[in-house]
Parts: sequence; C-alpha cells; structure tokens
Amino acid sequence: MNRSEMLSQLGETEIWDIVVIGGGATGLGIAMDAAQRGYKTLLLEKFDFAKGTSSRSTKLVHGGVRYLAQGNIKLVREALRERGLLLRNAPHLTRTQPFIVPSYHWWEKWYYGIGLKLYDLLAGSLGLGKTGFLNAAELLQRIPVAEKKNLSGGVSYFDGQFDDARLAIHMAMTAVEQGAVVLNYMEVTGLRTAGKKITGVEARDLINGKDHYIPARAVINATGVYVDEVLKMEDPHSPGMVAPSQGVHIVLDRRFFPTNTALMIPRTSDKRVLFAVPWNNHVVVGTTDTPVESVDAEPLPFRDEISFIIYHFNKYLTSDIRESDIKSIFTGLRPLVKSGNTGNTAILSRDHTILVSPSGLVTITGGKWTTYRKMAKDAVDNAVFVAKLPAKSCGTDQLRLHGWIAEVDPADPLHHYGSDAPKIRLRWRADPESAARLHPDFPYTWAELDFAVEEEMAMTVEDLLARRMRILFLDASAAIALALPVAERMAGLLGNHEAWIEQQVISFTQTARGYLP
Ligand SMILES: Cc1cc2nc3c(=O)[nH]c(=O)nc-3n(C[C@H](O)[C@H](O)[C@H](O)COP(=O)(O)OP(=O)(O)OC[C@H]3O[C@@H](n4cnc5c(N)ncnc54)[C@H](O)[C@@H]3O)c2cc1C
Repeated sequence: MNRSEMLSQLGETEIWDIVVIGGGATGLGIAMDAAQRGYKTLLLEKFDFAKGTSSRSTKLVHGGVRYLAQGNIKLVREALRERGLLLRNAPHLTRTQPFIVPSYHWWEKWYYGIGLKLYDLLAGSLGLGKTGFLNAAELLQRIPVAEKKNLSGGVSYFDGQFDDARLAIHMAMTAVEQGAVVLNYMEVTGLRTAGKKITGVEARDLINGKDHYIPARAVINATGVYVDEVLKMEDPHSPGMVAPSQGVHIVLDRRFFPTNTALMIPRTSDKRVLFAVPWNNHVVVGTTDTPVESVDAEPLPFRDEISFIIYHFNKYLTSDIRESDIKSIFTGLRPLVKSGNTGNTAILSRDHTILVSPSGLVTITGGKWTTYRKMAKDAVDNAVFVAKLPAKSCGTDQLRLHGWIAEVDPADPLHHYGSDAPKIRLRWRADPESAARLHPDFPYTWAELDFAVEEEMAMTVEDLLARRMRILFLDASAAIALALPVAERMAGLLGNHEAWIEQQVISFTQTARGYLP
C-alpha cells in the first residue's frame, strides 16, 4: 500500500461508484465491502487511518455485557456473531481473552453468572468458551492482586481482544487488495451537487496542498463524531445527529496487574462497567463516559476521569496505584446518536444509525468496532439503492483480512503481521542492523519502521509511534524519546529534509505530552 500509487490511481478514474469519507473502523469496513462487491471505491481520510476513535477503544471484540444487562438482546446477539466472524477472518489480529467478574456480595456471582451463561447461549456456535463459577481461592489464583476483603468468588467468561489501529491498517490493505483506492491525509472540504443530487466531493491533499474534485455516484459519510460537519457541508442548517461522549483509558505497567486474565468491574459508582485488560505487556484500564461539547482530534482527559479510574482500580485490586504510575492516557470520542434532549450519554443509542439526506448522501455513525462489518453492509446496501447502482451481494462474512494465516503463534513478536511476517524477517536478514529494537522496552524493530513507511502508508512520526507501533499508547515518555531517531529514519525513506524532521519532532512531542499524566 503506497500513497504515491494511490494518488496516481485517483487521477485514472473518471467517476467513482462509491466515495467513502472517513478512514476509521466504519469507513474502512465500507471500503472493504464496496470493493469486494466490485464497485469502484475510493476512501478519503483527513488524518491517518484510525487516527480518531478507532485507535482509542478498549480493544475488545465483544457482544457488550452491559447491553445485556440493559436487555438489548438483539444488539448483543448481532455483536456476538460479528465477534465470531472477526476472530475467524482475522486470527492474526484478534484473540480469545479470559475475563473474570469478581463477587463481593453473595448474590453477585449468581446474578452475573446467569447473565453470562445467556451471553454464551446467544453466541451459539461462534462462542469462545464456557462461562464458569469460581470460589475466592480460584479467583485469587487467576488474579493474585484482587482485593480479598469480602471476596466470595466470581464468574469467568470469554470475549475477544484485538489491536484496534493495527486491524484498521490491515482493513485498508484488504480494501486495496479488493480494488479500492484509499488515501490518508486527504480531507473532504466540500460536497458537490447538481439538481440537488450529490455528484461528488471536493478534497484537499494535506501533504502537498493540492485540491481535487472527485466525481462520485454515491457518497458515504463515515466520519464518526465528525458526521455533523459533513452534513453541514450539504446543509448549513442541519441540526446534526451526534452527541459526543468521551472515554478515557489509563495504561499501566504489567506489574500492577500480573495476569493474563482481564478483570471486569460490573458496576462502578456511575453504574457503568470498567475493564482492566492485559495488552502488549501492559494493562489498559477504562473507560469513562463524559458528555463533551466540542470535538477535537486530540481530546484530553478531565482530571476527574483519571481519579475515577484510579479509585476503582485501587478499590478492586491491591496494587495501590497513583497518578505517577500511569505510562499513558488516551481519550476517545464516542459518536452517540442523539435521541431528544438528554444530558446522560450513557443511555443514548449504542446501535448504529443510517441517515439518507435528500441529496442522496448516506451518513452512518454510532455502533461499535466489533460490528463494523454489519454496519458497512448496511451502509453499502443503502448507497447502492439510493444511487441506483447495480445490486451485488455482500461477501465480507467470508472475507479473510490481509495477512490471514491458519496457524498463529502468539509468542512470535511478529504474529500480528500474519503472512507479512516473513517480509520483515527477510529485511532482518538483508540488513541485520534493522533487526535492532527501537527501544529496549518494546519488541518493535527498525525493519518494521521501514515496512510501515514503504507498505503501510505511515507518513508522520505519529502514524508510526501511535498506530503502526503502539508505543505512544503504551508509554508516552518512551515515545517522546524516540521522536528524533524515528523522524530521521522516516525522512530518509520519504525523501524529506531537515525542516520536516524538526517540524515532526515538535508536533509529535506536543501531541504526546497530552498522553502523559
Ligand atoms: C473510549 C471508547 C472505547 C471503546 N471501546 C470499544 C471496544 O472495546 N470495542 C468495540 O467494539 N468498540 C469500542 N468503542 C467503539 C468504537 O471504537 C467506535 O464505534 C469506532 O471506532 C467508531 O469508528 P468510526 O469509523 O465510526 O469513527 P472514527 O474512528 O472516529 O473515524 C472517523 C474518521 O473520519 C475522519 N474524518 C473526519 N472528517 C473528515 C473529512 N472531512 N474528510 C476525511 N476524513 C474525515 C476522521 O479523521 C476519523 O479518522 C469504543 C469507543 C470509545 C470512545
């Protein structure tokens, strides 16, 4: 996947069947689906793929135990089916994760146990393992740092886990293999209409400043929390459909949670669930749900949100963490769909919503990472209908994602590359220095940087340290320390000069400071 090649293909197509705005989980899923059906498909992303909410999730491929408690069986059943399909179609990027719900009151074990048994039932043949009951000693064996006072045992169950940004990159590569053109750093700045029908989009290349007019039969707005901005390009009086809500996660060293089992705290003081999930030799703890007024590309956590997470971690675990123990904090914005006037975003719809404007613009938002495939199918079906494109059936339930391999060895540090791993090993052999690590605390090597620039469209230091490698999300200080050597090596590969290196180091350091406690 190479940006210059993508740009040259942009000029070769007179009119696109489907133009997708937004390169997060939703837009990338749509591009894969539309291209797989055989439509001429173009995806335009303003920043990098998954720069938005899609790199800032809890990293769970799940049915949503919380939605089960709310009685939303349809949503849970659909998400569990999608969970099963994703684990099957991307085994190198996903895995089965054991979870435990601790019980500190006699009734909790039975209440959550019965609910989770239903969760198993709803997953049917795509289930990941059986829910079971644990006594206190068994629970402590699995999570030695669990709070012992009043512990009566717990429930163990299984869900899916993944690396969100890496999955996004592999989805972009899959879309390209299916015939799509995908471009990062290409911002849609306007929509064009003729006789009130949408005829294309205006876009600006943020790397070279060039403007493009791109004719299209159908346009899909998949811009997450930004959907209202695109709707306003069409109708400045559009009331908008999204109520953004922010979710914060903190990342800690594994020593504070030395286990491979994840913890699910079923009821926090604001009646939500909170997770502590092992991830890349660290533990991710979150999340919050705080309504926010404005949308920012780098949302910042509120102090209360950090204290809330620390309080609950320390209440259920004996590790006793404090703010200075945090390695990184990341914040994402949920695109919750408005349903009248309510100040509480926790009760707004978590399902996806599709809006078809009078011009034929199809807007899709809401939903979850886990359900991206079903969301994409619904969006493409709508676009095909509205633009009167010839109907073609969706086959993404069987589509193996880029890198798919039959046997995955989780102990192999390159396993998430799947069938691309031998390409990295080949680079190590050709240039043994490229097998050295960027940083002693992380397994990433310089050959992977080269691969990210040459094959995965990494254009900036942030693309590399935040999404191709997850160092910014795991340890913000380590990422800042790497900014200069990474910028220097990338500049050599991209043909950029000294001024670019300087600008990249300044802008990355500024962004990364927002991830420090
Ligand atoms: C805190 C949190 C935790 C979550 N955890 C989970 C989880 O564990 N599991 C799960 O299944 N789901 C989870 N979700 C939900 C999931 O992350 C989101 O539903 C999903 O990532 C939304 O993807 P998206 O593509 O719709 O939006 P985004 O990822 O935000 O993508 C929209 C993209 O559009 C681009 N864009 C905007 N304007 C333009 C323009 N004018 N031109 C071109 N591009 C533009 C943006 O740059 C952005 O990249 C979580 C969400 C949050 C907030």
